[in-house]
Amino acid sequence: MLPSPPTTRLAPSPTGPLHLGHARSFLLAWLHARSRSGRILLRIEDLDRERCKPHFTSLALADLAWLGLDWDGEPHIQSADTAPLESALAQLTSQGDAYPCLCSRAEIAANVARSPSAPHAGDELYYPGTCGKLTLRLPADVVPAWRFRCPDEEVSFNDELAGPQRFHPSREVGDFAIARRDGAIAYQLAVVVDDARAGVDEIVRGADLLPSTARQILLQRALGLPHPRWWHLPLVVGDDGKRLAKRDGGFALAELRARGVDPRAVVAWALASSGLDAPERVTAAEACGGFELARIARASARFGAAELERLLAARA
Ligand code: GLU
Repeated sequence: MLPSPPTTRLAPSPTGPLHLGHARSFLLAWLHARSRSGRILLRIEDLDRERCKPHFTSLALADLAWLGLDWDGEPHIQSADTAPLESALAQLTSQGDAYPCLCSRAEIAANVARSPSAPHAGDELYYPGTCGKLTLRLPADVVPAWRFRCPDEEVSFNDELAGPQRFHPSREVGDFAIARRDGAIAYQLAVVVDDARAGVDEIVRGADLLPSTARQILLQRALGLPHPRWWHLPLVVGDDGKRLAKRDGGFALAELRARGVDPRAVVAWALASSGLDAPERVTAAEACGGFELARIARASARFGAAELERLLAARA
């Protein structure tokens, strides 16, 4: 029996211009859905009021259209529909799975510095559970952060591309935030609730989110939500071997677009850098035939000076 058509999504955060790493993940997610007559949704993850700018949402929509990627229905603007996120937070709180926290980032950092044995997870701070051990009396005008009471257990799951994974969130990050002190629901909770509401059953995204997946599994379990299938894509690295980031403005899609680069050359690079056969220029729609996400290379993709030069020479 053929697997049923997937529902997947593109979920950009409008915190900066999209770069080639996004182009590649979004193209592969789109091809995965469209080559199997599946659905693809667009969600704008704009809950972080400080970092998200409406200008970057318009830019992202223009970049996606330029790449030849479409989506089903209207884009879901996360900040315009927060009631279901708030009720998930209320559910976790009433179950005793979440508690309010008044620690500032500086206090958490200082605590970690005082206990050198505390583990770190990348640039995320480990939270030692300080407020979880207290009964806080919250003044009416104070908005606390909310943290998930992270069970002390290993979380293992299978990723369709990255293979078997094991994490231990309570040791790596501790009781992680699910709502912030500015009142915004945090990424980990928002993504779990909104994917489930939209019926997303296959998630295609960058391998930098593998550790987050373990946290999301714990939240799905606590909320009684189904687990989707995960396809975490190898990252794109530059000549220095470091992951491409939004700050690498030179590789912003908007800039390539402004310089008249042929988007078919970007699609061709995204395929070739994933170890797939591709002509020098190809549209996303043309690349659908015979596409299989399971066949992409597992090594990181490269985008350096030589690749940039090749793209810049490929004018529309
Ligand atoms: N909005 C997230 C990002 O841009 C993606 C989240 C996800 O795909 O789960 O990194």
